[in-house]
Amino acid sequence: MANYRNVLVAVDFSEESNALVRKALEIAARNQASLSLLHVVEYTSSMYAGDIPLPEDLNLDRDLADQATLKLKALAEENGIPDAAQFVEIGIPKREIVRLAEERAADLIIVGSHGRHGLQLLLGSTANGVLHQAKCDVLAVRVGS
Ligand code: AMP
Repeated sequence: MANYRNVLVAVDFSEESNALVRKALEIAARNQASLSLLHVVEYTSSMYAGDIPLPEDLNLDRDLADQATLKLKALAEENGIPDAAQFVEIGIPKREIVRLAEERAADLIIVGSHGRHGLQLLLGSTANGVLHQAKCDVLAVRVGS
C-alpha cells in the first residue's frame, strides 16, 4: 500500500469523533504523514432564507463557526493536534471536505462510516458523498455498532 503524506480527517462532533481522530492519528503516524482536522458548519443561511426577513446583522453561520472553532480546538488539544492543522469551514459537509482535501493536497480522507445522520444508510450520506466526489483515497472508519 502506498504511503500517505497528507491525511485529512473530518469530524461531525458525534460521540465517535474522538475515536475517529485517534484512529486517524495512528494512520498518519504509521505513514509519517501530516494530519489535518476539519469540521464543517452546515450552511444555515440558505435554510432560513424564505419569506421571513432576517435581521441584516444576523450572522448565524459565523456564530456557529466560532463555537465550532472552540469545540474543534478542544478535540485537537486532547489529541495533540496543532492550531495550524485545525480547520472549520461553512457549507455543505461533503463538498467542503473534498474542497479542503484538494486545497491541502490530501492523499487520504478519513471519515466515520456513520455520523449524526444515523445508521439508516449502510454508509452515511456524507461518507458516501465524499467517496464519490473525492479525487484521492477515502477511508470510512466503522464507528459505533
Ligand atoms: P453521516 O453522513 O452524517 O453519517 O457522517 C459520516 C461521517 O462524515 C462522519 O462520521 C464524519 O466523519 C463526516 N461528517 C459528517 N458531517 C460532517 C461535518 N459537518 N463536518 C465534518 N465531517 C462531517
